[in-house]
Amino acid sequence: KRITFSGIQPTGIPHLGNYLGAITSWVSLQNNQSSESELILYSIVDLHALTIPKDAEMLRKSKIEIAIILLACGINPKKCLIFEQSKVPAHSELSWILNCIIPIGWLSRMTQWKTKIQEQKNIQSIEDIDISIGLDLGLFTYPVLQAADILLYKSTHVPVGDDQVQHLELTRNIAEKFNKLYKKNVFPLPQTILVPAKRILSLKDPSKKMSKSSPFEYSRINLTDSPKEISQKINRATTDSQKGISYSPDIRPGISNLINIYSSFTGLTIEQVVNKYENYDNKMFKDSVTEVVIQHLQPIQKEIEKLRKEEGYVKNVLEDGANKANEIAKRNLNEIYKIIGLYH
Ligand code: ATP
Ligand code: MG
Repeated sequence: KRITFSGIQPTGIPHLGNYLGAITSWVSLQNNQSSESELILYSIVDLHALTIPKDAEMLRKSKIEIAIILLACGINPKKCLIFEQSKVPAHSELSWILNCIIPIGWLSRMTQWKTKIQEQKNIQSIEDIDISIGLDLGLFTYPVLQAADILLYKSTHVPVGDDQVQHLELTRNIAEKFNKLYKKNVFPLPQTILVPAKRILSLKDPSKKMSKSSPFEYSRINLTDSPKEISQKINRATTDSQKGISYSPDIRPGISNLINIYSSFTGLTIEQVVNKYENYDNKMFKDSVTEVVIQHLQPIQKEIEKLRKEEGYVKNVLEDGANKANEIAKRNLNEIYKIIGLYH
C-alpha cells in the first residue's frame, strides 16, 4: 500500500518556496492517486512550530490560516487527510520511543538546526556552530519528531523540498535501525519525492533558502502578498550586474532563482526561459517574473478570501482529518508498543 505523508509548520504564511517545493506536489499526488487503497496525509505540524517560540495566539491563528491556504491551493479533504499534528498524540509518543534508539551524533550532523541558530543569533559562519552554543533540545531533536510523523503511518512516500532531504535520509536510518533491533519489518523505508523546483532561494540572500521563519519580510513572497508587495519584493531581489539573463546557480544565484521561479510557474524548461529572455536586462526580466507570479496567485488569493469567511467549515475539515488519522495512528502505535514490550 502506498502511504504518503508530509507536513508544514504553522510558523508563518506559506511562501513561494513552500508552494513550488511542496504544496503543488501535494496537490498533484492527491489528484493522481492510482487506487482507492492509497492513503495521503498532510499535517499542520504545530508541535514542530514550538521549536521557534511563538506567541500562543499567533500560533492558533497561524494554524487556521495555513489550513485555509492549503485548501485554497487545491488540497482536497475528500482525497486526503488534513490535520493538526498535536491532535494526534501518537506523534509525540512514537517520538520518545525513537529518541531512545538515536545516537546524538546522528542529529549533530543535521544542518537545519545550525542554519536556524545561525539566523537567530546572527552568526556569520555555520562552521562556528556546535551544540554548546545555547541550543534548545526541541530544535535539536526536531528530526526525531519528524521521523515519528512519517513512520507512525508506515509511510512509503514523502514529498518535501530539497532542504528536507537530509532529514529523510535520517528517517530511513532510524527505520532501519528499529527494524533490525526488533527483528521485524515494522517500518517501510520511506522514499523522498522531490519536485524539479527543489529549492527556492531567499530574495535577500540567495545563499539561503526562502523561509517562513526568516526575520526579513522581503526575503520571501507570501502566498497572500498583494500585487504591489510582490512587485516591490521582486524588484528589490538581490541579483548581479552581469548583462543579460543566464542560468548559473553557483555564479548567479539570484537571477537563477528568478529563472527557477519563472520556469516553475509557466511550465517552461530552464533552457526555454533563458532562450526567451537572454537579451533582457535584469529589470525587464524581473517585471516578467512579477507578472507571472501575480497572475498565478490571483485565483488562490480569491479562494483564500472566500475560505476566511468559512472558518467553521475549515475547523470541521481539520477535526475530521484528526479523527481519521488518530484511528490509524493508534492502531500502529499499539503494534509498536507490543513489539518493544510495553504492552502484552
Ligand atoms: P520554517 O522557516 O519555519 O522552517 P519553512 O519555510 O522552512 O518554515 P516548513 O514548514 O519548514 O517551511 O516546510 C514545509 C515544506 O516546504 C517542506 O516540505 C519544505 O521542504 C518545503 N520548503 C520550505 N522552504 C522551501 C524552499 N525555500 N524551497 C522549496 N521547498 C521549501
Ligand atoms: Mg523549514
